[in-house]
Amino acid sequence: MGDMKMNTVGRPSAPDFDVEATSFRTLLGGRGLLQSEKLIFEWDDYHRTGVDFADIAIDTSDLDGLVRGDDLNLPGLTEPECVRHYVRLSQKNHAIDLALYPLGSCTMKHNPRLNEKMARLSGLGDIHPLQPVSTVQGALALMDSLAHWLKTLTGMPAVALSPKAGAHGELCGLLTIKAAHEAKGQGHRRTVLVPTSAHGTNPATAAFVGYTVKEVAQTADGRVDVADLTSKLGPDVAAIMVTNPNTCGLFERDIVEIARVTHEAGAYFYCDGANFNAIVGRVRPGDLGVDAMHINLHKTFSTPHGGGGPGAGPVVLSEALAAYAPRPWVVSAGQGFDLAEHGEGENAANFGRQKPFGRMCAFHGQMGMYIRALTYMLSHGADGLKKVAEDAVLNANYIKASLSDLMSVPFPEGPCMHEALFDDRWLEGTGVTTLDFAKAMIDEGFHPMTMYFPLVVHGAMLIEPTETESRAEIDRFVAVLRALAGAALDGEVARFKGAPYLAPAKRLDETRAARQPRLTFS
Ligand SMILES: *Cc1c(COP(=O)(O)O)cnc(C)c1O
Repeated sequence: MGDMKMNTVGRPSAPDFDVEATSFRTLLGGRGLLQSEKLIFEWDDYHRTGVDFADIAIDTSDLDGLVRGDDLNLPGLTEPECVRHYVRLSQKNHAIDLALYPLGSCTMKHNPRLNEKMARLSGLGDIHPLQPVSTVQGALALMDSLAHWLKTLTGMPAVALSPKAGAHGELCGLLTIKAAHEAKGQGHRRTVLVPTSAHGTNPATAAFVGYTVKEVAQTADGRVDVADLTSKLGPDVAAIMVTNPNTCGLFERDIVEIARVTHEAGAYFYCDGANFNAIVGRVRPGDLGVDAMHINLHKTFSTPHGGGGPGAGPVVLSEALAAYAPRPWVVSAGQGFDLAEHGEGENAANFGRQKPFGRMCAFHGQMGMYIRALTYMLSHGADGLKKVAEDAVLNANYIKASLSDLMSVPFPEGPCMHEALFDDRWLEGTGVTTLDFAKAMIDEGFHPMTMYFPLVVHGAMLIEPTETESRAEIDRFVAVLRALAGAALDGEVARFKGAPYLAPAKRLDETRAARQPRLTFS
């Protein structure tokens, strides 16, 4: 950390900021040993290849004249060019293997290498979803064990393993709820209640399923306003969607009461379980009255995410919803296991459940993630998972306590759960915004925290350290944030306004990139 003092008390001063040094331009536009290069489609040689294909004669008579006449125009790279291109790209990105990754609500924890080793075992890594069931008994046993762990940890009687992400799990949960209402002649329930602090995927999922979304207010201490919720519950409400711990990093103290009034009104309680990391092994959502909850294996159970890896979002279900869970699921069949793919007709009796609403994906879900998640569970054990939650909460509170004399905290009362939430009141009058502050963190080698979310907190900065960071690493992070905060309060605006100075890409127009993406190269 150069000459910066490591102490976290007081306000360590940031080393001098030298604009000229930061604007130094290299000949090729790279930085240090990381060369800059064009996009792969802008390389102009389409005729090189790293692979030699043999000339083959193909009978095209069946193609009815639709044979391509011109070149494919795929980028042509030799093997070393290709390898370098992708390694360089990977190094332009941040990764959990590079440094602390404090994105709140994302649980960017270390992915234990043991998980990777297990996922690559031949016999697990090489199987195909269309293999005969008799040849994949081990994989089915593994899925059955994973289901058992998920049901035990949540205190819920059923689980649908197949959804492939948190948002996909929400979709699965709401489709299950819809099927249950329709089966009870309650299909007229068209409204889903969502608190203002919810993750954007909650209202998006409800709208996607065709529900009308109504917002529920929040109290001054960052929790669901139960009076407002109760006033909005009625015969038109199909479900509520509540995150617990919520996105302000707080436990919903009235959760049992929330479940009670919801059930009394004939609605189901969908819990967004993306923040399960904070309570795993300590609290069972089934005991709180939850009817459906997705679990992000890629958050709580350490399977890789961020940067495009596959996720997995199994959904645990209460007794009331279990019958409507989507196909397939694993069943014990005589000596071994079977996949219940067809829940109707003559198979229904064998498969126990009667009314699956359909299926979420072509096969059974993300096997590679199941293996990693189960490895994580078995290597921690029930006591280890409890410790995960405790350490995650301890680390977040350590950060909150280490920064709250400089940075303002919107809900200061009591401890937080697994993430520490700050707002931007402390930046008032400095000329520095939440965005500027986050960009300056990139120059210091740290990925920014989650910014401007939850929306209910102005200029929100949500920091989730996770339990896998050591005290020393968190101290380093805190020291950098304290020094940056000091620089902002001392009026060093240029350090922030032009940041990131040292990243390969500066401030991108993210809105335009999302709204008007350029998807072709001419
Ligand atoms: C991450 C997250 C989701 C969505 O999960 P994906 O796997 O990204 O689809 C939903 N809700 C909350 C609170 C989350 O943190």
